[in-house]
Amino acid sequence: RNVLHWFRSKDIRQEDNIALHNASLKAKEESGSLIGMYLHSPKDVEWHGTSPARMDFILESLRILKGQLEEKNIPLAVLEVEKRSQKTETVMRFVEENDVSHVFANMEYEVDELRRDIDMMKRVQEKEGVSFEVLHDQTVVTPGELKGQGGGPMKVFTPYHKAWLKETKAEPGLLDTVPAPEGNDEKALEQFKKLVETKVPEMPESKQFASDEERQRLRKLWPAGHEAGMKRLHHFLDKKVSDYAAHRSEPARDLTSRLSPYFSSGVISVREVLSTALKSNNGAHFDEGDAGIDSWVREIVFREFYRHMMVLTPHGSMNLPQNLKFDFVQWEDDEEGWYKWCEGRTGVPWVDAGMRQLNHEAYMHNRLRMVVSSYLSGNLLLDYRRGERYFVEHLVDWDLSNNTNGWEPSYTIFNPITQAEKCDKEGAYIRKWVPELQDVPGKAVFAPFDRLSEKEFERLGYPRPHVDFGETAQRAKERYKRDLHSG
Ligand code: FAD
Repeated sequence: RNVLHWFRSKDIRQEDNIALHNASLKAKEESGSLIGMYLHSPKDVEWHGTSPARMDFILESLRILKGQLEEKNIPLAVLEVEKRSQKTETVMRFVEENDVSHVFANMEYEVDELRRDIDMMKRVQEKEGVSFEVLHDQTVVTPGELKGQGGGPMKVFTPYHKAWLKETKAEPGLLDTVPAPEGNDEKALEQFKKLVETKVPEMPESKQFASDEERQRLRKLWPAGHEAGMKRLHHFLDKKVSDYAAHRSEPARDLTSRLSPYFSSGVISVREVLSTALKSNNGAHFDEGDAGIDSWVREIVFREFYRHMMVLTPHGSMNLPQNLKFDFVQWEDDEEGWYKWCEGRTGVPWVDAGMRQLNHEAYMHNRLRMVVSSYLSGNLLLDYRRGERYFVEHLVDWDLSNNTNGWEPSYTIFNPITQAEKCDKEGAYIRKWVPELQDVPGKAVFAPFDRLSEKEFERLGYPRPHVDFGETAQRAKERYKRDLHSG
């Protein structure tokens, strides 16, 4: 009998894939074939609002993976489900048709996905001779595992980071990788011809790029597949990481790895990345090595922490803020402000530059993500969930945990001018993304409306600030104070 690995949109790779590896071992033990399967659900894509850039990245990565697996005689079937509720029955039909005895998958921590797996467990229990195993793969330290003093859950990042470093130092095996599957014998592709013949679908009708030029540009920026991801990692470790600690928050220098889409689709594994980084650190652990590597790994620990928080506060994946009190805030409905924010025409250069980078590259530097999100809820007083959704619809690296945690409202509202002066000293990032301001001299580029004469400003063809951010930040804070205590 055969063994199935059920790929999800968070583990599109054969390298260091825990459940796939276990499926492969089981297939050997049972003298059966290893089969792969991916369920494509256009309704899920609609429901989540997945961007064309991310959809294309996933489909291309799947095409590459299908080719790689089939070289090893492992068929990868790509099935389409019409309704979101039909996933588990589709898998069960597949199990029956292909004489599968064991199903393996890597765990996803969002509520809908957990419910789907629970449903699958129930179906398997009703069927004799079939098992279903869901394994942890997305993180180095399993979410929920690190405990605070007294055994309670850890909810604050700094102690979590410390505990994570301690744990991975004490258990270096946590960074070990598992090998890619060996493969089946030659007959398998013939035997599972029907599965081999299934095609990775084309882009859904609703997810087309605006133009062919856009598609080409984004594919060049975000080449799909594991090999492209690892190449990017090595480039980062060779050329960028040494300046990361000191200059990562300066977007004009582009010193971050740009590996986020590879992480969020599981095209690369966090263990493979970290064990490679450890070698670059001459084997020193991530609190005693190169400052660049140590501070970069700290960001990766944020990714682990946010998965951990998803397990502790599952409502985070149900369109609710982690701090539920923020659900009582009465937001405003400044539609003009909303469109200006989306298009990068708020009249605040730092915010506009970030939004224009997002619209052009399907990506935004972390500093800017912090600022544009703060501006949307703290200065436009718009429901942060609208911005969160806009990010999903445009980012190539959308990741539910990182995105919802990034968008969590807060009393900290950034001053977008002083932030820009600190992180973009020469104004190079602003001038790159807001060409109207290309020739604005010196510090006027950070606040052209206030720092140029009226005549000079009018000539730019750049909008006036949509709101006075000092005044609106004050209003937002008062609103939070009022509404957070009324619920
Ligand atoms: P690097 O600096 O090279 O970091 C390496 C990796 O660490 C990243 O690829 C990412 O996986 C992880 N990481 C880095 N910063 C963070 C962080 N602040 N939180 C969690 N993980 C981090 N990240 C996403 O992957 N998807 C999202 O949808 C997403 N939405 C965000 C929304 C907001 C409002 C904010 C403030 C942040 C969001 N982030 C998101 C986190 C962060 O901005 C991106 O991960 C980062 O900019 C990606 O660039 P990079 O790969 O070059 O990062």
